[in-house]
Amino acid sequence: MPQNKKFSLKITTLFAQFNEQFFNNQLSNVDVILSGRLKTTSGKFCPQKPHLKHGEKNGIIELNLRLLIERTDKEIKETLLHEMIHAYLFSYEKRIKPHGKEFKQMSEEINKALDINISTRHKYFTWYRCEGKCKTSENRYFGYIKIVSSNTSRLKNSHVPGCDGAFKKVSEPSKNLLKQFDEQKKKIREAQKKVKKCKLQYKSNAFTFNSDWTALLPMFKHI
Ligand SMILES: [Zn+2]
Ligand SMILES: [Zn+2]
Repeated sequence: MPQNKKFSLKITTLFAQFNEQFFNNQLSNVDVILSGRLKTTSGKFCPQKPHLKHGEKNGIIELNLRLLIERTDKEIKETLLHEMIHAYLFSYEKRIKPHGKEFKQMSEEINKALDINISTRHKYFTWYRCEGKCKTSENRYFGYIKIVSSNTSRLKNSHVPGCDGAFKKVSEPSKNLLKQFDEQKKKIREAQKKVKKCKLQYKSNAFTFNSDWTALLPMFKHI
């Protein structure tokens, strides 16, 4: 059986199983499709709009085939259930916060039952680390980088100048290190702001100079 077809079957089976186990079969009116349209989001629930003709369906759960086919079983379940909770809550109360207290309550119950961790994120990241010069650069987070999906083309552009090290898949950095990255990001952002401010000031000075110079023009006309 082709890989995509096998994966699609797996999703359909899981959906039916979870629908019965956690949603009292209330989601039989929801379609699940594997889509190639989503770019960085792993899944999305689209409530049925009246102008869309889709039988009696109440909505569509769209799952990112490209991203999910490479994730673990646990992550696939987490993504599917995340969207199923959205679909379930939507059919009851349309005006609640997408990841509000109702969402958290349901996800916590399911997490306990299946020993998984449904998060409020819609993206999965894979961490990489450069083995070269970047490893010592604070400004490049010691070579760490997270990307969505296995599309590694972004990695090539993220070396410090003169580094051509290889990127290796690594597990998520420690909480302490992540905190350090956040602080570093803040510093970089502040420095960038200062540069921008300087540039603006320079521009406005240049303008003053230009306008003074233009003001002198009529005088030259008399020469
Ligand atoms: Zn969500
Ligand atoms: Zn590097």
